[in-house]
Amino acid sequence: MPLVTSKEMLIDAQKNGYAVGAFNANNLEYVQAIVEAAEEEEAPVILQASQGAIKYAGLDQIVAMVKVAAEAASVPVVLHLDHGTDFFQNVRCLRAGFTSLMFDGSSLPFEENVAITKKVTEIAHACGIPVEAELGKVPQVGVTPEEVRALMTKPEEALRFVEETQCDSLAVAVGSVHQMKVQEAKLDIERIAKIREITGIPLVLHGASGVTDEGYREGIKAGICKINIATELNKAFTRGMKAAMEKDPSVVDPRKIAGVGREEIKKVIKAKMRLFGASGKARNFVAKGVGYGGRQELSASDLKKE
Ligand SMILES: [Zn+2]
Repeated sequence: MPLVTSKEMLIDAQKNGYAVGAFNANNLEYVQAIVEAAEEEEAPVILQASQGAIKYAGLDQIVAMVKVAAEAASVPVVLHLDHGTDFFQNVRCLRAGFTSLMFDGSSLPFEENVAITKKVTEIAHACGIPVEAELGKVPQVGVTPEEVRALMTKPEEALRFVEETQCDSLAVAVGSVHQMKVQEAKLDIERIAKIREITGIPLVLHGASGVTDEGYREGIKAGICKINIATELNKAFTRGMKAAMEKDPSVVDPRKIAGVGREEIKKVIKAKMRLFGASGKARNFVAKGVGYGGRQELSASDLKKE
């Protein structure tokens, strides 16, 4: 089906107590792995591109690849901008056909974060596209536990932020750390529940590669509706390619190397979808009408009665 927006997808997740996996793609093999895994798991899926991935693969190239893959799929697929730290980057992605945006102003002072997020949401909403924002700061690996705590999202600030910016979902800093290669981050579950309770909107977990399986389950119960996975996919792709080259050092056909990487990525994604409770949930969505720009919009009221 045509690309859908993340708005109704995350509301469905919130309503039904699961989280949508948001997987970072860097090239064709990632796009294929993500969409194929979603098909096999019958899971709604968010495919996201970071600014680094856009620089690497090209903005229009990413949109074209993901559009074609989504249209051929029977499950709903969102194309989301991950960590757009710039107003213009968000506008360019909106214009290029992304169906979900993120403005990350977490390194800015509160008021500035509010002001730019608000500008992005006004423009995006005019086109029917939802926006994720970030408050507090999910740090990069190498920080101390005290630093992680000091950067966490404050529930009372979150309420003001959501009211003023009208963002559709919020990335919260609740104990996870970007680019962790071991699962040892401890989530502040009470903080997640509190932010969920006072803002009411779907919450997003970044830095998820360092979170334990139990942490995911508790986080989802408390209000996490979207979980970003990037580092684990990179590890899987590289692991697969290395194994293929070690198995047969004479191999020169890149398809025999990258193809093994793609299978490894797929395995990780499918396991995450099951863990997040997203498997089978594509059945909650039925296509309805055609939204802005020819995109199909899904509505939470379209849930099939089971
Ligand atoms: Zn992130």
